[in-house]
Amino acid sequence: MLAAVLHGAHDLRVEHRDDRALLPGEARVRVACGGICGSDLSYFNKGGVGDFRVREALTLGHEVSGTVAELAPAADWPLPSRLTVGTRVAINPSRPCLHCRYCRAGRSNLCRNMRFLGSAALMPHVQGGFSEHVVLRADQCVAVPETMSYRFAACAEPLAVALHAIARAGNVVGRHVLIAGAGPIGLLCLAAARHAGAASVTITDLFPEPLQVAARMGATDTIDVQADPDRLDRAADELGGFDVAIEATGAAASVVRMPLLVRPGGRIVQLGMLPPGAVPLPVNLLMSREIDLVGSFRFHEAFDIAVQALAAGRIDVTPILSATFPLREANDAFLMAGDRRRAIKVHLDIG
Ligand code: ZN
Repeated sequence: MLAAVLHGAHDLRVEHRDDRALLPGEARVRVACGGICGSDLSYFNKGGVGDFRVREALTLGHEVSGTVAELAPAADWPLPSRLTVGTRVAINPSRPCLHCRYCRAGRSNLCRNMRFLGSAALMPHVQGGFSEHVVLRADQCVAVPETMSYRFAACAEPLAVALHAIARAGNVVGRHVLIAGAGPIGLLCLAAARHAGAASVTITDLFPEPLQVAARMGATDTIDVQADPDRLDRAADELGGFDVAIEATGAAASVVRMPLLVRPGGRIVQLGMLPPGAVPLPVNLLMSREIDLVGSFRFHEAFDIAVQALAAGRIDVTPILSATFPLREANDAFLMAGDRRRAIKVHLDIG
């Protein structure tokens, strides 16, 4: 089978990889579509993401959809309902162990034994979904309506990240929300915050093009922090501080500003992944203003909720869909996906 395999920074090869036999409880999915994520781009550009470095050849991709091609017969738990050969599915890239204290507490995104698709966190790496076939545990396959496009189904994963971040923000009904960063995740956080009942959503970026997309997706205010560095402070002052800030850039310069922009008693959700190392924060502000600073990492039950929201048309991801490239043109796709002035979400057509 063909796959887009990273051998090191800027060394992405579309080449043949061996398929493997299924183990009990597993499914083989014929992949149709894969979205390029910021973490895929980081692997491609830097050979790593956050604290994870690529140490062996790694098939990228964890935002994938397709159809079930094969199911292992002897699953030791019931198959997810409606799953059979030919079922159209969104793939949940999380494969938690289901047994550790975090899995049993319903926080499987914190599983200490997580096997996440297309990730260099473990050695050997967990190979990803930019591949003609991918083998998963059957419960990672979530059936979607036959009428849902594979591109939409491949957006379930980033939407789940956004829905989980909004859940970590707490009750946003009637609240004034700031989202730092109008990349795919920031824009989906915008959609999720509006869907959850936020009174206003202000979103920032360094470029005007993604902010134009944000305006189309219902942003109350869009702020180009490069063109007008002081406007974000003025916007925060007018509100007496934002109730909630979602930090979705992963840039230290943005992270350190968040405590200055939320009101006393407000909450900051750190969603963007930073490079390795520490970032100095004005911690006394967190203390004296009782500001909550929480992390948000991947998702657990939000994946199924994302599929349901897409299926029901409650959240429309159309504005973020930028372009689709055939798998063989993966390098061109990555170059476009890395150009924030040209692209929000780029997909690979793998079917
Ligand atoms: Zn676990």
